[in-house]
Amino acid sequence: MSSFPTTATSACPTPLLPLVGADVEIPLVDGRTVRHANFDGAASAPASVAVAQRVTDVLPWYASVHRGAGYASQVSTALYERAREDVGRFVGARPDDVTIITRNTTDALNLLASAVPGRVLTLDVEHHANLLPWDRSQGGHEVVRAQPTVAGTLSALQGVLAARRFALLAVTGTSNVTGESLPLAAVVDLAHRYGCRIVVDGAQLLAHRRLSLEDSGVDYVAFSGHKLYAPFGAGALVGRRDWLDHAAPHLAGGGAVRQVSSSAVQWATSPARHEGGTPNLVGVVAMAAAAAELSAVPDEELRQHEEQLHRALLDGLRALPEVDVARIWVDSAEPVGVVTFRLRETDPGLLAAFLAAEHGVSVRDGRFCAHPLLDRLGWGAGAVRASIGIGTTGDDVDRLLAGLQAWVAGDQ
Ligand code: PLP
Repeated sequence: MSSFPTTATSACPTPLLPLVGADVEIPLVDGRTVRHANFDGAASAPASVAVAQRVTDVLPWYASVHRGAGYASQVSTALYERAREDVGRFVGARPDDVTIITRNTTDALNLLASAVPGRVLTLDVEHHANLLPWDRSQGGHEVVRAQPTVAGTLSALQGVLAARRFALLAVTGTSNVTGESLPLAAVVDLAHRYGCRIVVDGAQLLAHRRLSLEDSGVDYVAFSGHKLYAPFGAGALVGRRDWLDHAAPHLAGGGAVRQVSSSAVQWATSPARHEGGTPNLVGVVAMAAAAAELSAVPDEELRQHEEQLHRALLDGLRALPEVDVARIWVDSAEPVGVVTFRLRETDPGLLAAFLAAEHGVSVRDGRFCAHPLLDRLGWGAGAVRASIGIGTTGDDVDRLLAGLQAWVAGDQ
């Protein structure tokens, strides 16, 4: 057995909110079953119990939205539009902002890319969803290389913004690899100083921290329900209306139009303009319920729960020999609980399979849809990511660390 110290995480023994499947037992290779310790919420988080209940409540009213005066259809339309309002409120939408329901963050950023009336600026440390769509924008796309310090990165962005005109700066709210963020207030100030709008990729951020468009001055935010403890299928783009009302419809078809004749189409304004086809009522209601549940958790509680577990995980990782934890910036503020690491000389896929099969612990392995960032780190072969969320417990962290200790000690 290993001689590593065990990390005491008893300060945080319970989940902050109950999640579906939290007590599920999974089989190990040795025939035992253990409670599933899931550290893959940054990819897709399990639904919360309250969200699952809300979905069950809504299923009897499942009918086509915006399509007529049938009773269930009217109820569905009301549920859908109320959920839209709740989703906008979750990110502090301004009164004139529009909330467009999308499939996910990727869809939302692709939609915005088709609406931007000029050039887009991003960093090379972004998730592919905040990197690849911008090539589709009318003005094209420029990528700035993130510098080793936050200050250096801000000044690299400033240099480019001062030299050329950009319509939009696209930055991640929180990196899905390192959990780090740039200081948002400084980035908003920088963009606006040069007449550039800013979109925040909120896919990771919003499960961990609040964002208010109104208070922060951020122009757009994109996010996904499935990272906020709602089941798959719905995301949102929230922000300024003008570009979106001038853009070509994201999905041309029924629902996106006011009037169609054999010779002409009169498109609707946003949000309907970009929501062609039958909307995903259940997905949106689930996302809105998740947003409401998260908003009801006091800020401080959310932070404390995560920080205790995060610290315990980092301490445990640092006690292992030959472990590297990914960071983009040497001077960024405390990251959220998304931790990517590698054990030297260890294949990340094998390690992840070992943790699942022998310890019942699920982590994510691979390159996290952020290949340029992994290349920058010199981790092109991939790494392992453990993400902490509202369902994570001290016991989960202890079990992950015990699994890693067993691997290092050769107890395979
Ligand atoms: N942006 C970040 C930072 C992410 O972590 C992810 C998903 O992992 C995305 C965007 C894309 O989200 P989705 O797959 O829901 O579109």
